[in-house]
Amino acid sequence: MKTFCGRANPTTGSMEWLEEGEDYDYHQEIARSRYADMLHDKDRNVKYYQGIRAAVSRVKERGEKAIVLDIGTGTGLLSMMAASAGADFCYAVEVFKPMANAAVKIVEKNGFSDKIKIINKHSTEVTVGPDGDMQCRANILVTELFDTELIGEGALPTYEHAHKYLVQEGCEAVPHRATVYVQLVESKRMWSWKKLFPVHVEAEDGEKILVPPSEMENCPGVPSVCDIQLNQMPSSDFTTLSDVVTMFSVDFSKPVQSAPTYYRVQLEPVKSGKAQIVLSWWDIDMDPSGMINCTMAPHWVKRTSALQWRDHWMQCVYFLPNEEPVLQGEKLLLTAWRDEYSVWYNLQKAREEENKAAEEEHKGDAHVESPVCRCRAHLLWNRPRFGELNDQNRTHQYIKALRKVLKTDSVCLCISDGSLLPVLAHYLGAKQVQYFVLFFSSLHFSLFYKANNLEDKIKIIEARPELLKPYHLEDKKISVLVGEPFFTTSLLPWHNLYFWYARTAVSAHLASNVTVLPQSASLHMMIVEFQDLWRIRSPCGTCEGFDVQTMDDMIKNSLNFRESKEAEPHPLWEYPCKSLSDPQEVLTFDFTKAVPQHCLSTEGSVNLLRKGKSHGAVLWMEYHLAADISVSTGLVQISNEKGNCEWNPHCKQAVYFFSSVIELEILSDPTAVTYAINFDTKTGEIALDFKL
Ligand code: SAH
Repeated sequence: MKTFCGRANPTTGSMEWLEEGEDYDYHQEIARSRYADMLHDKDRNVKYYQGIRAAVSRVKERGEKAIVLDIGTGTGLLSMMAASAGADFCYAVEVFKPMANAAVKIVEKNGFSDKIKIINKHSTEVTVGPDGDMQCRANILVTELFDTELIGEGALPTYEHAHKYLVQEGCEAVPHRATVYVQLVESKRMWSWKKLFPVHVEAEDGEKILVPPSEMENCPGVPSVCDIQLNQMPSSDFTTLSDVVTMFSVDFSKPVQSAPTYYRVQLEPVKSGKAQIVLSWWDIDMDPSGMINCTMAPHWVKRTSALQWRDHWMQCVYFLPNEEPVLQGEKLLLTAWRDEYSVWYNLQKAREEENKAAEEEHKGDAHVESPVCRCRAHLLWNRPRFGELNDQNRTHQYIKALRKVLKTDSVCLCISDGSLLPVLAHYLGAKQVQYFVLFFSSLHFSLFYKANNLEDKIKIIEARPELLKPYHLEDKKISVLVGEPFFTTSLLPWHNLYFWYARTAVSAHLASNVTVLPQSASLHMMIVEFQDLWRIRSPCGTCEGFDVQTMDDMIKNSLNFRESKEAEPHPLWEYPCKSLSDPQEVLTFDFTKAVPQHCLSTEGSVNLLRKGKSHGAVLWMEYHLAADISVSTGLVQISNEKGNCEWNPHCKQAVYFFSSVIELEILSDPTAVTYAINFDTKTGEIALDFKL
């Protein structure tokens, strides 16, 4: 079956209709899936195997047959573990068809076809009985349905249903229980992902302070989980205000309730400060004794054995509704609210009587709504974007550049999504500022302008650039065209070149001596060795003795599905790597001119300067705002002679994984990687080709 999918090209902005086979979606899903990462997660796999062996023995000791239900079998791994551990039969349920097919092949290849039945259904559709999918209820329940937030992938409703319909009472569950931990912290850095801080601008006529509207100040934000590699957050970027506290646990061997509820704990700050953030992670006990424990605790909590790196389970950052000054030793009540799929927090002071009254008041009232953005800013700006807008150094660069180009009679047009540049331009003296809002409603910006008395100073034009008419601009020509550039539709760094296309579309409205800021952009590239990120795209071969090569082949096939391999976006501040080459500028884009008709291409080679494994190339954009003022969305610096890199903390960089890795042990012969890069100005796509 073929389907036509309409989408706006993120770089050129034009609407395109793509013919997609039904294969397209699942290739994307497989290629970018976390299956490889899970199979590389040794700590997880070993502990599941131990837990499964222990559960099978307990059932056998009772003289029962061991009948396993494995919900979400994926590659079939956990069922094969169970069969090897002596289970009599396994029902392995997998909803995703391509995975269910792969599981059939993998199970067969490993010789378990007579012991494992793959059922390609959602577990809630599975039937039990003589003619059903399962002959009888299972007495061992094995699952791995957890995300970083534990319950985000629907583990609770799945368990609730399984206990009602698919497993026996008193069944053994692997994992046996999960526990969620929290720690209260103050962190300007993380808080800057939720709140817009006041922006200070030194204008000719004194300091101006740009304030967020009260709607934004009191907005609870969005319910989506903020999951990060917390171990990469420098300890200087946050202060822990409490010890680690157990928030709640779920016992998977007993009936599970998924209905919304809350959990409350009392805690006493170990330090005074501003409570802003709740950091959270979980662990799972594979058996009832708690001896087989798999934990996501960050490094400062778990100091014992080596940390297992994984990307499929990280740590959560929750934002309190408002920051709360707290005193060392005072009594606080932290509440975790949850619905079926997500968790959110609030903090109260525990004043004795009031506390009791509040408890009463809340009894039976477990329906406090999850955070829903009312100000719309949290819909327009995601968390890294909030962080970027709050980055004073960055704002300062833009202010410096704007100062250079603005005159009192400038007519300024800004093209960027949800940008503060129009306000900065106004404060710095532009007479008239026109501002495009391209994809989103201007509502949130009207609020913003109102709060700062700017409604009649900055005009929002809700039109696409190609539809701009002289009347929008009151028949004036634009003397200064500005952009960050930033667009919410961008995924890869070069998608923000949309600014160039928009600039081309409005050419007729530009004065002959127009100044464009940024005046140009450049694409940069560097060869790197990743400390860990390579795992997510690296074949696994065997996993705990089981042959999972079918899965490797399937991922490889999906990666090659598109003719040219694509780069993928990753925020590299979370994924340490070292540079093996010097950073190199590979393409430049001149915004003072229109987008050319011809392609922009380049070829060359980069020398490898350090020993290491070349896992791939990283690419990023730099914007040249004005003479001598540039901002990088990628490499900030190479911080030492070992080649460790520091990356822009607000942006994702493009990572192109090489299909084979070369390992350089000696640097005697100069080794080089050759590249060919082509930017097709018609499609806005960048094709990358590397030879090692
Ligand atoms: N058990 C495998 C794979 C875990 S990934 C392993 O541990 O390596 C989770 C898998 O569960 C995914 O393939 C997803 O498609 C599937 N899944 C999630 N919820 C499900 C449900 N309720 N019924 C069937 N499959 C489910």
